[in-house]
Amino acid sequence: MHEIKATTLLAGVVGHPIAHSLSPAIHNAAYKHDKRDAAYLAFDVDPDEFETFVDGMRAAGARGLNVTVPHKRAAWNVATTVTEEAQSIQAVNLLMFDGDEIVGDNTDVSGVRLALQELGAEVDGAKVLVIGAGGAGRAAAFALGDQPEQILITNRTAARAEMLRSAIGARAQVVTWKQMSEAAREVDVIIHATSMGLDGDATALDYMTLQRTSCSALLDLVYGASETPLVLEARRAGIPAADGLGMLVFQAAEAYALMWDAKAPLRVMRTAALKAAGRSS
Ligand code: NAP
Repeated sequence: MHEIKATTLLAGVVGHPIAHSLSPAIHNAAYKHDKRDAAYLAFDVDPDEFETFVDGMRAAGARGLNVTVPHKRAAWNVATTVTEEAQSIQAVNLLMFDGDEIVGDNTDVSGVRLALQELGAEVDGAKVLVIGAGGAGRAAAFALGDQPEQILITNRTAARAEMLRSAIGARAQVVTWKQMSEAAREVDVIIHATSMGLDGDATALDYMTLQRTSCSALLDLVYGASETPLVLEARRAGIPAADGLGMLVFQAAEAYALMWDAKAPLRVMRTAALKAAGRSS
């Protein structure tokens, strides 16, 4: 840990719960590497106290806050300005303080975009299946932009898939949860964005389906102490695949760049993320 001084600037992540967050390890590693006089903390804040907390952080001169579950809606409401990126997805996951202004931004979209690029997923003119229509599914669908020919969206709760489809527009189509395996066989890229697949849970797609798909890249937004079962099964079926740790690091690097107006030390942040997740680097 770098030295905390009277001049040390403050940033952090706010959620409820937040103890599992890898963000402090990722950001503090970057601060240490860049010899930045700053500290990044995790704040567990009750939803009732969110506004008071944000106001206090602003008054204390904090640089910015990453925002996670369940505060994203409240973060949207508390922002005095919302960036174009956050407007487009209608979600805020980063608050930055600039005098009296509280700027709401979104780094999840660019996080998914960069993770897809790193994986080598070709989405231009492709058919893409997005599994999940919660916050991560929404970021994935928006990250695809207008590049794919078609975006298929499936979600356990159909109404949520339908909401995302209407936000995306004509290129998007809903497939039922039951039709997921069938749809997976016909697509070029799969993005998995539900909470399934950790702690020995069932995965959204089984090996039989993965073996039969024409898919050439699978991005699982879930991450944990090891690569997810879905990623391992996809690779076994010959599909290049990556889990959500890449997205996490890319969105953290984007937040770093926005907060400090400086290039993020991506490699340092990735090493810190792997270590904090309990994986060897
Ligand atoms: P969320 O907004 O709460 O949405 C949860 C999603 O998972 C919904 O689509 C939900 O379907 C689905 N789901 C939950 N349990 C399910 C089950 N048993 N069977 C089928 N579907 C189920 O959460 P989120 O923010 O989108 O997060 C989803 C996953 O992405 C989490 O694992 C999270 O850690 C990960 N994530 C990763 C990053 C990253 O940086 N890599 C960023 C954000 C999220 P219903 O609508 O039917 O409930």
